[in-house]
Amino acid sequence: SGLLLFVFYTIYNLYKSEQALIDYSNKTSMYAVSKSRFLANMSHEIRTPLNSIVGFSEQLTKVNLETEQQEQVNAIRNSSVMLLDVVNDILDFSKYETGKVAFEKIPFSPFVSINDVFDSMKILAEKKKIGFVLNMPIDKNIYILGDVLRLKQVVMNLLSNAIKFTNVGSVTLHAELIKTVEKNAQLKVRVVDTGLGINEIDQKVIFDEFAQVYYASTKEKQQGTGLGLAICKKIVEFQGGTISVTSEEGKGSTFSFELPFEITDKVKEDVVNRAV
Ligand code: ADP
Repeated sequence: SGLLLFVFYTIYNLYKSEQALIDYSNKTSMYAVSKSRFLANMSHEIRTPLNSIVGFSEQLTKVNLETEQQEQVNAIRNSSVMLLDVVNDILDFSKYETGKVAFEKIPFSPFVSINDVFDSMKILAEKKKIGFVLNMPIDKNIYILGDVLRLKQVVMNLLSNAIKFTNVGSVTLHAELIKTVEKNAQLKVRVVDTGLGINEIDQKVIFDEFAQVYYASTKEKQQGTGLGLAICKKIVEFQGGTISVTSEEGKGSTFSFELPFEITDKVKEDVVNRAV
C-alpha cells in the first residue's frame, strides 16, 4: 500500500505541476512551455561555468605561450564563445516561448538605428566581396516609440543571414515608414539577397526553432543554431507585426517584416526618461 500511495502522490504532484504550467502562460501550449522551461534551466546552468571558461581562456590568449599552445588556447576560446552564443539563443528563445517578455516603449529615430545596424554589418559584406546597399527613404528626424534594441536585433539577424548565404551579387536593405491613421505608422523592412535561395518546402519551416536548410552546394556544415529566425518571428509577432519570406532556389531570397509604431513628437530628455 506504501507503493500505491507513492504512485498516487507522484501522479498528484505531476498533475499539480502541469496545472502550474498551464497557468504560467496562456499564449503557448503546455508542452511548449515545459520544453522551454527545461531548455532555459539547462542553459542557465551551463551559462555560468561557460562564462568563466570564456573569461579565463580570453585571459590566457594574452599570455606569452608557444605557438602550439597559443593555437590550443585560441581553440578553447573560440569554441566556448560559440557555445555561449548557442546557449544565449536558447535562453532568449525560451523567454519568448514562455511569454516572459516585456517590450520597451522609448522614442528613437528608426533611420539612425537601422543605419547603425547597416554600418556594423558592412565589414562582413566587404569580406565576402558582395554588394551591400541601403535604400531608406525615412526622415532622420522622425521618432517612433518602441523597443529599439529588439528592432535592431531582427534587422541584424536578417542581414547576417543574407550575407552568410550570398556568395555572388548583393544584399540590399530597404526600409520605409508608412503613416497610417493619426500618429500611427507601419515600419516596412525588406532584406533582398541574390544568394542560395530556399526551396518552397523549406520556406514553410524556416521560421520554426532549430530549422536549418541543407545546401548541397556548400557541402560544409553550417554554423548557427537555427534559432535566429524563430527569435525574429517571436519579436515581430509579439509586437503585432508580421514576418515572411519569398525565395527562389539558386536566385535569392527576400525576408520582409512589418511592425506598427506610434510616431512621437520631438524627443526631449524628459520624454526619454518618462518612457523608460
Ligand atoms: P541559423 O542560426 O542557422 O542561421 P536561422 O534561424 O537564422 O538560423 O536560419 C535558419 C536557416 O534558414 C539557416 O540555417 C538557413 O538554412 C536558412 N536561411 C536563413 N536565411 C537565409 C537566406 N537569406 N538565404 C538562404 N537561406 C537562409
